[in-house]
Amino acid sequence: MTDHTYRTATLLVHQGRDRDPATGASTIPVYLASTYHHTGGKSGEYDYARSGNPSRDQVEEAIALLEGGVRGFAYPSGMAAIGSALALLSSGDHLIAPDDLYGGSWRYLSQVLPTQGISVTFVDQTDLDAVSAAIRPESKAIFLETPSNPLFKIVDLRAIAAIAKERGLLTLLDNTFMTPLLQRPLDLGIDITIHSATKFLGGHSDLLAGLVTTADPALAKRLKFFQNAFGAVLPPFDSFLLSRGIKTLKLRLEAAQSNATILAERLVAHPAVERVYYPGLPDFAARNLHFSQASGAGAILSFELKDQTQVAPLLQRVKLPIIAPSLGGVETILTHCWSMSHAAIPVATKQQLGIRETLLRISAGIEDVDDLWEDLERGLK
Ligand SMILES: *Cc1c(COP(=O)(O)O)cnc(C)c1O
Repeated sequence: MTDHTYRTATLLVHQGRDRDPATGASTIPVYLASTYHHTGGKSGEYDYARSGNPSRDQVEEAIALLEGGVRGFAYPSGMAAIGSALALLSSGDHLIAPDDLYGGSWRYLSQVLPTQGISVTFVDQTDLDAVSAAIRPESKAIFLETPSNPLFKIVDLRAIAAIAKERGLLTLLDNTFMTPLLQRPLDLGIDITIHSATKFLGGHSDLLAGLVTTADPALAKRLKFFQNAFGAVLPPFDSFLLSRGIKTLKLRLEAAQSNATILAERLVAHPAVERVYYPGLPDFAARNLHFSQASGAGAILSFELKDQTQVAPLLQRVKLPIIAPSLGGVETILTHCWSMSHAAIPVATKQQLGIRETLLRISAGIEDVDDLWEDLERGLK
């Protein structure tokens, strides 16, 4: 059993449980059982796998320890995690959300929540007055993402948490880009942290998973109730894969972040590139704010090409990156946000938000950065 006073690098490896209590095995076995014997008719620690499973418990405890939560929850995808956390809202409630956010979250918030009687206002959350002005009597929560995707807007988490506390609103933050290694939102006053663990936490592009945690025992109780009632739970084998991925998060993310920094600097100097969005660049406008709430710039950057006719040749010429709508893997992933990660967002909205057809996003992997650069440079010729 791991003590919660350990530092993050240690917690990543040992997590909540680092050996099987029954056998001493070095990894928690994949418990495939759907149900558990009730000795003498009495239920033990486990009774039915939707309610609890040792493989899933391992990652649920891990995320709670890593984020400073009281309890964690694991779901079969990041969207299932977001939907399950937002099930804390009910019909008649109002939600405030960022105008620049992950395309799938935008789809869920703009097209699913309203059918359940929950209204949503999208605002530029870098403007604190706009956030305050969006609060209505029926407002229940503020959904957040920072850095935002794909334009790297930085939202002041302490300030928004203070506004929310004053007005009695819940705060939920999608911490996928940063991971608990670089940003611990619960320490800054955020109520609920959400992850697409499909990305950096899983880390190998071989798994879909979502995680949620909170430091508030009453919220944890309601999240647990809904998870069991609704049944969107992370399966045992996927829990094992996720736990394995988490063990190497520090090594992977630090290597990827260092590659992202080098790629960002080289892209800034490239004549075909109009601008680069990356919190690690010296002239990144919200750099101080970002580093007041996060300990690293992360491994993702976006850049705009000067000329739209260069996008297609670049996507055709590059050989190393996977061209896909994802991020956070050991392999570099190149995304054309317009047609991939943000395809669900209507053209007019994208244009209004400044998501242009010339915008590309790189999730740096852990390859040799010179190979990555030479490949990109060939693509940009
Ligand atoms: C990928 C992603 C999600 C959705 O996660 P899935 O695991 O694909 O369901 C949510 N938020 C962000 C920031 C993401 O990158």
